[in-house]
Amino acid sequence: MDLAALLDRIADDVAPEIGRGFVADYIPALARVEPERFGMAVAEVDGAVHGVGDWERPFSIQSMSKVFTLALALSHGDGLWARVGREPSGNPFNSLVQLENEDGIPRNPFINAGALVVTDELAQRGDAAAALLEFLREESGRADIGIDPEVAASEADHADRNRALAYFMASYQNMLHPVPAVLDQYVRQCSIAMSCADVARSALFLARHGVRNDGSRLLGLSAAKRVNAVMLTCGTYDAAGEFAYRVGLPGKSGVGGGILAIVPGRCAVCVWSPCLDARGNSVAGVAALDRFTTLTGWSIF
Ligand code: GLN
Repeated sequence: MDLAALLDRIADDVAPEIGRGFVADYIPALARVEPERFGMAVAEVDGAVHGVGDWERPFSIQSMSKVFTLALALSHGDGLWARVGREPSGNPFNSLVQLENEDGIPRNPFINAGALVVTDELAQRGDAAAALLEFLREESGRADIGIDPEVAASEADHADRNRALAYFMASYQNMLHPVPAVLDQYVRQCSIAMSCADVARSALFLARHGVRNDGSRLLGLSAAKRVNAVMLTCGTYDAAGEFAYRVGLPGKSGVGGGILAIVPGRCAVCVWSPCLDARGNSVAGVAALDRFTTLTGWSIF
């Protein structure tokens, strides 16, 4: 398979989709991104990386960070599952409605409430955003990956919804640390800026059943399978069914316009285009992954 040529073809095929939808503007600094950007990278399990378009340009990873924090939390054991579920929510990523009915236990680690619990869990060992940055720098081999301070400040200034989620969970004793500290770490983890190439490279452990780029093991086989399974069922929020139908891979989106998808045993793929559909997933990104699995036959089904 000539992946470089394939990516060129996909970029041509999805060109009409680029710019369709809306750039996320509830975090004002995110709204400043150029809407017409498109990049896509494929990292193969042997380490080869191919890309097209803006594949080396950093963007805000936002909720794609939740895959990595979940993996880091599970690398310390599976106690997390007492505090967060693993069922699709069928609700928007920042919804409050299920939390009261379900006694402050979020449906899954990829909606905001669940990700706040994961960050709180990691905070027992120090700053979660710092631990995440260290991991991403090691996996990508890029020491210059960092937090975009403007996005972090803007997100911190507009975090009332996430603050509400965290305090609500605290009222059910499902927060170990003070809410302001957890929120600060969560906002900084979401504000990390990375390119498609670096995200794909950093996620290869999920394509290698838990094994990192240096050959050491981050997760056991079961834990790696579980992260992929939760990505498939919950990674694109209330569009997870549609994403599985169209793409057929574990995937995780972010409101920065990135989507990470895993082909177990083969590769990690990251696509970025900032304009989102109503459910917060990149329009051109989903279209590109749809083309990718159609042209390669590499869905998990
Ligand atoms: N930082 C964003 C938030 O908490 C992440 C949401 C997302 O990417 N879906 O609202």
